Amino acid sequence: YKGRDVAITSNTDLSERRRREQELRSAHETLEDAIEALTEGFVLWDEHDRFVTCNERYRKFNHLVADKLTPGTHWLDFISAGVERGQYVAALGEEETYLAHYRARGIKGAVGQSNEFQQNDGHWFEATNQRTRQGGTVGTRVDVTGRKRMERAVRNSEALVRQVLEACPVPILMTRIRDGRILYSSPATKKLFRMDGDEQDITTRYMDSRDRDRFLSVLRETGRVDEYEVELKRADESSFWGSISARLIEFRGENVVVSTTNDLTERKSVEAQMARQREVLHQSEKLSALGELLAGVAHELNNPLSVVVGQALLLQETTQDEATAGRAEKIGNAADRCARIVKTFLAMARQKPTQNAPLDLNEIVHSSLDVVGYSLRSSNVDLELVLADDLPLIQGDTSQLNQVLTNLILNAHHALQDTDGKRTLQICTQALPASAEVEIRVSDNGPGVPDEIQSRIFDPFFTTKDVGTGTGIGLAVCHRIVDSHGGAIKVQHSDLGGATFTVRFPTTSAPAVQIGEGASAAPQRVGRTILVVDDEVDVGEMLADILRADGHTVSVAASGRTALATVSKQDFDIILSDIRMPDGDGAFLYERLKADYPHLSERIAFVTGDTLTARVKDFLESAERPYLEKPITPGEVRAFMHALVGE
Ligand code: ADP
Repeated sequence: YKGRDVAITSNTDLSERRRREQELRSAHETLEDAIEALTEGFVLWDEHDRFVTCNERYRKFNHLVADKLTPGTHWLDFISAGVERGQYVAALGEEETYLAHYRARGIKGAVGQSNEFQQNDGHWFEATNQRTRQGGTVGTRVDVTGRKRMERAVRNSEALVRQVLEACPVPILMTRIRDGRILYSSPATKKLFRMDGDEQDITTRYMDSRDRDRFLSVLRETGRVDEYEVELKRADESSFWGSISARLIEFRGENVVVSTTNDLTERKSVEAQMARQREVLHQSEKLSALGELLAGVAHELNNPLSVVVGQALLLQETTQDEATAGRAEKIGNAADRCARIVKTFLAMARQKPTQNAPLDLNEIVHSSLDVVGYSLRSSNVDLELVLADDLPLIQGDTSQLNQVLTNLILNAHHALQDTDGKRTLQICTQALPASAEVEIRVSDNGPGVPDEIQSRIFDPFFTTKDVGTGTGIGLAVCHRIVDSHGGAIKVQHSDLGGATFTVRFPTTSAPAVQIGEGASAAPQRVGRTILVVDDEVDVGEMLADILRADGHTVSVAASGRTALATVSKQDFDIILSDIRMPDGDGAFLYERLKADYPHLSERIAFVTGDTLTARVKDFLESAERPYLEKPITPGEVRAFMHALVGE
């Protein structure tokens, strides 16, 4: 300046600028610090979706693509790198679709949403995107692995409980105490109550709603109920007995009943059956006591009846006067019938081992009617007999078959009791040559057997009758007996309107044994010496008379001892001895004969009214000597003699 170098200096005060710069830096640092302090990952993209900044946490979460987190990187490149490097589990194997989706949606498309995804290191993240005022996008990312794990654990344990409940065979139910609303019912409960699933209310499942009140009052008081037996109702309105056990719990602030119900149907039916069996047992005890009594009476009648039968026949055979002979015949026939009734009773009372002899079914019909015919007549039942002539014989046990027929007749009789008007019972026998069988049909015009129980009436203890009236064993016994005879029994609807029971037996070709039957056996004219031993003088004399009439020489002894004295003086062809005698019984006589007169012990036969007692039965079995049962008829005596002499 003016020839001189001068320096012009201007001073600007930078303090303000410096201060502002300082402030800006510090604001920036504060911001950065704040962003870094976030527990979430933080990222900022500008309005062109290019990377601006992120915090360390975000970088760590994205460690596979951390190199892409540089300013200017486009969001899509960042995502593509992640997909390529396998960062996103959901994208594995689906890279193209995944990328296409992100490309189409863009980062803006995700604004306002949160999105959960899993990375290949197993970590789960929740990501959210928000718009900034300047049009950029702020993203956050939270590691939710812990929460996810917990959720899964809860889900697993819920699934476990549910699976247990669903599979549990015990019915489980959860209901609100307040109104009975069903909160949970297991499949077993639904099955038990036959509920379709959307059932809401348990109160309707009680037959009597007061039962639920009683149940709840105990539950409220003690918090528990065990085995509360109650009648319940299924969804289809059918009822059953159940036993409920329950506990009171609190669930979501409410009193809730957790219970299980046991179906008692089976147990109840077993109990009922047992009660019925007890009743049957009681009945059969009564019956067997009655049977014993009857057998006792029948037994007492034996001797006098034998005398009436025998003497009547002798009178008939020996008298010259026709009128007397006629009367004697009538007496004889009547007494003969009595004898048959007594024999049937005895046979029924006796638990004899099965006999297997040829027999005529028509005879069985007659002897059964002898026993039950009176009660049929007295209740106005018309009996129609259609019995085939010349019915082939069958093989079997007379007393058992008597029992079958008697049962069938009594059942029909019972069925007819409520029938108004004409009551008909029809018994038919018939030969079935084609199948070599004989058939017997017992039909009535009662109410019949309904189809639905036809298959069950032969079951033991099945009865439709009241306790005390029916036992349900009659037809079961019939079935067993018929079966053991190789036969078959069935029930059908009868032409008369009621039931028909048809029984078939195979025929036999063996001839009938006439011992014990056949009053017409030819008299024996070959004279023998016979000793009759019986403590009842009348019976002994009657036997002697019959035998003498046939030309035998007969002595009578009144006891075993007297008989021994007699045989010591004289030999006999045959000895016919009673068994039960006061002074030396049949067994005594037999043993002494065996010891002292062995040949006579092989000529002895017995006539006894007592095959019921075990002692007599055992004796007859061990002695293996022939015997005849009282009451005896002359025909039987003759047939027996015939068989003995033949032997
Ligand atoms: P119970 O006579 O003691 O009941 P049963 O075994 O003899 O025992 O009979 C079983 C059931 O068969 C009877 O309860 C009855 O329902 C039926 N039943 C037997 N016979 C006849 C019949 N003639 N008519 C109708 N129902 C019958």
